[in-house]
Amino acid sequence: MPHTENTTVAIAGGGPAGIMLGLLLARAGVDVTVLEKHRDFLRDFRGDTVHPSTLAVIDELGLAERLDERPHRKVSTLTVGRGSDPIVAADLSTLSGRFPYIAMMPQWDFLDMLTDHARSYPGFRLMMSTEATGVVEHDGAVRGIRYRQRPENGDGEQGEGGQREHELRAVLSIAADGRDSGLRDAAGMVPTELGVPMDVLWLRVPRKPEDPSGLNGNLGSGAMAVAIDRGDYWQVAFLIPKGGYARTRAEPIETFQEELLGLLPFLGENVREIDDWSKVAFLNVTQDRLERWYRPGLLAIGDAAHAMTPVGGVGINLAIQDAVATANLLARPLLEAQSDPERFAKTLNPELLGRVQRRRRMPTVGTQAVQQLLQRQVISKALEEDASLPPLLRMVGGTGPWSNLIARVMMFGLRPEHVQTPAVALPARGRQEPPE
Ligand SMILES: Cc1cc2nc3c(=O)[nH]c(=O)nc-3n(C[C@H](O)[C@H](O)[C@H](O)COP(=O)(O)OP(=O)(O)OC[C@H]3O[C@@H](n4cnc5c(N)ncnc54)[C@H](O)[C@@H]3O)c2cc1C
Repeated sequence: MPHTENTTVAIAGGGPAGIMLGLLLARAGVDVTVLEKHRDFLRDFRGDTVHPSTLAVIDELGLAERLDERPHRKVSTLTVGRGSDPIVAADLSTLSGRFPYIAMMPQWDFLDMLTDHARSYPGFRLMMSTEATGVVEHDGAVRGIRYRQRPENGDGEQGEGGQREHELRAVLSIAADGRDSGLRDAAGMVPTELGVPMDVLWLRVPRKPEDPSGLNGNLGSGAMAVAIDRGDYWQVAFLIPKGGYARTRAEPIETFQEELLGLLPFLGENVREIDDWSKVAFLNVTQDRLERWYRPGLLAIGDAAHAMTPVGGVGINLAIQDAVATANLLARPLLEAQSDPERFAKTLNPELLGRVQRRRRMPTVGTQAVQQLLQRQVISKALEEDASLPPLLRMVGGTGPWSNLIARVMMFGLRPEHVQTPAVALPARGRQEPPE
């Protein structure tokens, strides 16, 4: 018999979507348990762009100063072009709002800050090194999450011991376990692939004081690269045709250095720092979405509901927006359910889960459509060694109105969400992880 525990909301995945939703629900008085399979948030190139829409949410939670105290770099200029022909040349500081910039912040710092705050609410519980392995089903509804807590060995890999399975019964279960969501699969929900033309290589190159600042992208012939200013280094995304990684890696690293230098000449001799393929991380880019984000008792949000491509760096922000919308729409019914002694025999009305999807579907589909447009009209052409840009883009590319439109869509999202959930009075420290 598995060991059984109860919570009101069980969340699989401690990424931006899961942690933000856990924080907001606990802040509103709902008992939440977040299961995260890794023992910490440290993962390189995990996505570090905190956009103005997310900064506004952080501010609404009263955390703007705490974020400011953590190391980050403010990026306010976005320049993407082909040689000296600009396609997008946006100065975010001309946009309205309190946060006219992208905060480039290591995702583990961002998540640490959110969990620190979430732990002050008694309803918040985060279980690290805990892997969701499936759903608990009964009478056609999801009634919770199965999980394993595994002791870890010294090098950060999960060990094989402690494989006992547990059941976490919940009124609502959330799949926030990312684009390869196992919980979504276990619940029989299959996303539709939208198709992408590229994969991405991530790397770091030291940045000289005299280098340009902000985000700088350049389309070449057969390649494209974007460099993001991280202070003392450039975070570089080098785009390659989908499935072309093995071919690229078969090249001598010096050939890769030259290609990089050709696209981003300001990197100069510092490209020689990339002297081994082990310094290059590969991202298999996908874009997909679920037709239906929910089943009775289960809701998918963030990448689990819709994987985004890196275009515009919008994945974290959409995940956060999903979490805010979910809390706004469900906190009250969850609080009502929490006070019902029969709650584990019932299911939250699926119509309520449908409201979350209806609210977030338009911004998701719209943002994916903008990504598809840019991928087809700009990125595919660059990767296929076609130097031509579509006539309309040649006409408007680099102009103020066009650049501002693209920047607005990417920075603020198509339907920015605002925190509407109340905050319970703050007691002392919240519950900590139980001893393993
Ligand atoms: C290399 C890379 C670079 C990226 N760069 C950017 C960027 O610059 N800007 C941007 O906005 N987006 C970027 N993204 C995308 C961005 O990271 C995601 O869109 C965003 O993090 C989605 O948040 P999420 O919470 O939905 O999912 P995730 O961030 O994927 O979080 C899911 C969490 O669930 C955990 N998990 C998975 N399976 C289980 C399980 N079975 N049990 C328990 N826990 C589980 C994972 O460990 C993870 O912590 C990048 C993605 C990658 C891979």
